[in-house]
Amino acid sequence: MKHFKRILALTLALTVICALAPAAAAKTAESSFGGYKHVFIIGIDGAGTFFEKDYMKNFHRIFKDGAVKYGVRTETKTDSGPNWNAILTGVSYFKTGAENGVVSLEQDRVFRRYPTVFKYVRDAMPDAELASFSNWGAINKGIVEDDIGVTKVTQSPDDALTDSIVEYFEKGNRPALFFVQLDEVDGAGHGHGSASAEYENALKQADERVGRIYEAVEKAGLMEDGLFIVTADHGHRPEGGHGRFSKIESYSTIALKGKTVKKGGALDSDTKLRDIAAISLYALGVKSTEWNFSAKVPADCFEDFSGQTRPFYRDIIDTICGAFMWAYTNLGAPLDKYF
Ligand SMILES: [Zn+2]
Repeated sequence: MKHFKRILALTLALTVICALAPAAAAKTAESSFGGYKHVFIIGIDGAGTFFEKDYMKNFHRIFKDGAVKYGVRTETKTDSGPNWNAILTGVSYFKTGAENGVVSLEQDRVFRRYPTVFKYVRDAMPDAELASFSNWGAINKGIVEDDIGVTKVTQSPDDALTDSIVEYFEKGNRPALFFVQLDEVDGAGHGHGSASAEYENALKQADERVGRIYEAVEKAGLMEDGLFIVTADHGHRPEGGHGRFSKIESYSTIALKGKTVKKGGALDSDTKLRDIAAISLYALGVKSTEWNFSAKVPADCFEDFSGQTRPFYRDIIDTICGAFMWAYTNLGAPLDKYF
């Protein structure tokens, strides 16, 4: 009898433990590292920090529960090549030397020795769908690798490119990593300056397109395990143009939405555009083993992660020049008018 009671008690206890264990496991917060199946990087060329404007209605609607930083440092050279390349490789412009003219060249040039996030993801997920849709041809030609099975679409104008993106998702594609570059805000900036009505109008149109892309992603059911990122490579001077070191050129935006993104997160003050590479790989659970990779996951970005420290020793030149240019920019870029 004594024996029977003991067995009964043990059986009961085991039953209770077995019943509670999965519930307890389900209750623990979801992990951001590897917690995502899809990462979407939507880039608006030349939009800088203008996402802040009230008329960017879709942007504000999408990221109202997300994490947004408008004071994100670009690469020291505020051009498209250096910055799209840094966003996609996690390596500074000082190492890649990815000038516009360089990334516009064919592949397999000397400078292409730094793998993009597409390559890291491909190595970790041999069968994953990966895609890059770009208006500016240089991205698919000179930045994203040719031989790793990335679906590449290079198309203009932005409206047609957006149609192709919507169609791509309607067809049932479920990319692990998806990149877009829309170009017409930059065009309006070059033609009329960032203080113009034309530039504002181009931003509003880009915002519409971001809304369409987001809707397509959501409709396809990909936001459940999706991380949606919107950014820009650089800003534009009021009179038009970029490449120098004023605030309006050197500061950009990173906005994040996803199930573990910190609501109202502001990302730490050291956040750079190239950190998008680190954020994307972290979300997909892919580790970067590249010694030149100097991107980090910022603090105040994911609920369950306090952020990384930038491995500055990997890139001493960028660390020193970056600090110097930060000070210069914040002094009002006094010498910019001379060159
Ligand atoms: Zn650009």
